[in-house]
Amino acid sequence: MSMSPRSLRQNLLRWYDANARDLPWRRPPGSTAAIDPYRVWLSEVMLQQTTTAHAAPYFHAFTARWPTVEDLARADDPAVMAAWAGLGYYARARNLLACARAVASQHGGRFPREEAQLRSLPGLGPYTAAAVAAIAFDAPAVVVDGNVERVVSRLYAVEKPLPNAKESLRALTAGLVAVGADGRHGDFAQAMMDLGATVCRPKAPVCGACPVRSACQAYAQGRPEDFPVKLKKATTPQKYGLVFILRCGNAVLAETRPDRGLLGGMLGFPTSPWRDTPFAEDEAEIFAPMRAAWRMAGEVNHVFTHFRLQLTVLTAEAPSRGSHNTWHERVRLQTALPTVFAKALKVAGGG
Ligand code: SF4
Repeated sequence: MSMSPRSLRQNLLRWYDANARDLPWRRPPGSTAAIDPYRVWLSEVMLQQTTTAHAAPYFHAFTARWPTVEDLARADDPAVMAAWAGLGYYARARNLLACARAVASQHGGRFPREEAQLRSLPGLGPYTAAAVAAIAFDAPAVVVDGNVERVVSRLYAVEKPLPNAKESLRALTAGLVAVGADGRHGDFAQAMMDLGATVCRPKAPVCGACPVRSACQAYAQGRPEDFPVKLKKATTPQKYGLVFILRCGNAVLAETRPDRGLLGGMLGFPTSPWRDTPFAEDEAEIFAPMRAAWRMAGEVNHVFTHFRLQLTVLTAEAPSRGSHNTWHERVRLQTALPTVFAKALKVAGGG
């Protein structure tokens, strides 16, 4: 490599000064103004599952409604779950609240500065703790997300496949953090992320615009897209389920799902359990929330982290609301439902 780690870092920071993405939770590059750890943490949790463009409106909505971590800690669970709807992976929303409450009750409403203390908060894994420590407190934390793994695997042409290469990639990133006498650890972490997101992209990296090209071994070998090397993935399991959409006039039966498990604590329609084989038509009445003339409206496919789900959507009209007390106005439901149920409502002709 014709560039020392220190020069590589300097080149990257210079590039960041001119090219940093303008994101609502950031301060401008080079700024030493205090930055609110609550906002850094919130954005990082949101970004774990989605893109910056998709997360931005949610970030604005959350910070307008709950401007401080203590405000969020005082929020009602259903309000936060509903505001999270559409961001996916609902366990995160539950951890979000648990974490806000821990910061409020155990740390006087201030996020701790130490990475180890951050890690002891609910839902803060090694990545988020490092990101908050670096970005909010300029600590020399080693922040490695998918973007950083890609950049580093290319810079050093790491042949070991992911996920086994994670430790090596982390150690190589740590080498670039350790030479940071500039104290710009937050900017460095974000510069790596930005380089991965905008220049060192998964497909067709723009090596011509890359500030660290002369240090890049994958570029020198003419094969950036061969990195990171990945183990072949096992195919994602397919599961099946039934979802029941019972209407009564303008109302639809929906209930808060049990706290634990997939989509826990979220609003949803009654479902069968998920299983590995498709359901036969006559099985609907076994799992239906009440006897009715159930009609098949169509199918919904949704990909969760660990499996794909195909839901058969069944609809029926209830003659009256009966003893069920969890009826919701159809128009209100659309924004409060997690994506998979919002899709089902649409298939049923109500979304
Ligand atoms: Fe990525 Fe190309 Fe830059 Fe190497 S030269 S870090 S492959 S963008």
